[in-house]
Amino acid sequence: MMWNGMEHQTLTSLRSIVLQEKTIIAHELSHSWWGDLVTPKTWNDLWINEGLATYSENLAELGKNRNAMGQRLSRDCNWGRPLNSPDPGDLFDESLVYRRGAIVMHHLRTTLGEGKFWPALQHYRARFAYGNAGTADLKAAFQESSGKDLGPFFNRFVYGTGLPGLRITAQIDNHPGLQSHLTLNYTRTDGYSIPDVCYARIKYTDGTTEVLFFSWSKVGAGYTRTSSRQFSGIEMDPYQDYPGNIDVVTKGKQEITGDTDTTGRKETAQVSGPTDSGYSPSGAMNEELLASPGILSIAQAGGGLIRIEFQTPPGSYFQLEAADPLNLTNGWVVIVPQTKATQPSSSYLGPAGSGARIFRVVYSGQ
Ligand SMILES: [Zn+2]
Repeated sequence: MMWNGMEHQTLTSLRSIVLQEKTIIAHELSHSWWGDLVTPKTWNDLWINEGLATYSENLAELGKNRNAMGQRLSRDCNWGRPLNSPDPGDLFDESLVYRRGAIVMHHLRTTLGEGKFWPALQHYRARFAYGNAGTADLKAAFQESSGKDLGPFFNRFVYGTGLPGLRITAQIDNHPGLQSHLTLNYTRTDGYSIPDVCYARIKYTDGTTEVLFFSWSKVGAGYTRTSSRQFSGIEMDPYQDYPGNIDVVTKGKQEITGDTDTTGRKETAQVSGPTDSGYSPSGAMNEELLASPGILSIAQAGGGLIRIEFQTPPGSYFQLEAADPLNLTNGWVVIVPQTKATQPSSSYLGPAGSGARIFRVVYSGQ
């Protein structure tokens, strides 16, 4: 095999044809740390130094250009074997120890964040300098430095096989002049149950976008974003740096269309007037919903709390909104995000006297 470059202690050798190649110079230079200063314990640990050297190529070429980074790194990775178990007959498998090694390092950086990844890498270097380190040592050093349990990450991306996969179900519920909602639900499609992270670009009908970072262990299985703008769509993994597949599934006919009330959503109105519970938080304003689903009662629950009970057809989605005393958000603030009703009636216990005194229930069909 003809190599274009090779690292040696204190010396890099390069073929004359690659003397101007920034990426190869960066690759071999980085081996001064990853390979020479910290040397792999066994051939199975080759992915650490080749993955970091390949990642260094991309950092040299692209710097902080995350967008292009993902497109370069995601190509043709070998997920058929554990990353730390290259084929003995093909130890320097380009698609495994190099490319997959690099994108797994990049995903570790995404997972830990800038503030934890780089110190952890420095800690790994300092701890194993002038010695040998294996995959378990890398994991231990990163855990020590970051304080994070990286067991699920290593089991999935390093020791695991099969292309990683997420499925995101997106539902858009637009209401011009009111609060609109984007609801995301997340499941894994690769048989693993680990929490994972990815980016998403959310698009609005006014042409604006925002990129959000999702840590699915924090948001759980469901996430709702509420905005006074209307949503026009969502693009998962906009930088294409997730090391696997992300499928986006849309749900219901109200989705990604930007229209309103196509599913029989009703927005009930409210007027002042004493409720049947007789509770009047301010003396001047009272709450009552006129139409279905209707508030059953609003009662002072004691301890400065009020209880609102309302009817909700099971299977429908509801949310509770309160008048915004400062009128910052089209007059309403969401106090209970969109929730699926499981009972014919639901209740909400919230603080009284917050200034948000008029409540309404907004709900949509199943
Ligand atoms: Zn190398």
